[in-house]
Amino acid sequence: MSKIKIAELFYSIQGEGRYMGVPSVFLRTFGCNFTCDGFGMPRGEHSKERDFIAADIKKFFKYQDLPLVSSGCDSYASWDPRFKDLSPMLTSEAIVDRIMEIIPHGEWQDEHLVITGGEPLLGWQRAYPELLDHAKMAGLKEITFETNGTQKLAEDFKEYLVKWQITNHQLNREVTFSVSAKLPASGEKWKEAILPEVVCEYEQVGTAYLKFVVATEQDIKDAEHAVEEFRTAGFKGHVYLMPVGGVESVYALNAKNVALAAMKRGWRYSDRLQVPLFKNEWGT
Ligand code: SF4
Repeated sequence: MSKIKIAELFYSIQGEGRYMGVPSVFLRTFGCNFTCDGFGMPRGEHSKERDFIAADIKKFFKYQDLPLVSSGCDSYASWDPRFKDLSPMLTSEAIVDRIMEIIPHGEWQDEHLVITGGEPLLGWQRAYPELLDHAKMAGLKEITFETNGTQKLAEDFKEYLVKWQITNHQLNREVTFSVSAKLPASGEKWKEAILPEVVCEYEQVGTAYLKFVVATEQDIKDAEHAVEEFRTAGFKGHVYLMPVGGVESVYALNAKNVALAAMKRGWRYSDRLQVPLFKNEWGT
């Protein structure tokens, strides 16, 4: 039986992207290939916020007790090894049991499943078929993988996802890849973060769209440059701009400007509804 290391598993409203406003189960897997220490920092500088939290790790007994950060990756505890003990390894059976407890009717109706991270398309690709094939997952219609767009899909996983969508015709199943490709403001290197050939492959399996987190004019220029590279490689999906800000004070500073920038380019605007609605607390 396969297991997945789970940082969080909760029920909320999807606050971002294509399924904004849709009731969703969030399965946050552990592990990421990036650190994104540049978010919310002057360009070239790295956030140290999570180092201070890690120095006090003994004070925190569960994931939900951890402080929110205003710079760096806002889901740091889902990949930083110093917080790994707060994320249990769970069998598919245990994950499904927990999902059945948290969805309102004890079975899938119109809820959507978000598999997020960390980076959910690392090695866990091998474990998802067993989870999705569980009898209690049969009513699930829509899945979104929230990915940074750097991980190739394994051939057998690609085939599995294509088959998953056509197996049960009445359900109109759909797989979406919400690709938050990391711009230089994240602190990650362009060549490692902008991989159009990887993302184009996602379009062979389901719907894929790009979602850039931006705060400044330079970020928006970087997004334009990235979109050019994706389009040149043949990417057809929509483009979203989303304001930076895991905390309300930062988010509120630039949400309107980001919406205007998206409109100007004919791109879509993605809010972060979890910030104004739930203050981005863990489990939202
Ligand atoms: S890719 Fe996402 S989860 Fe990974 S470090 Fe960056 S923001 Fe965090």
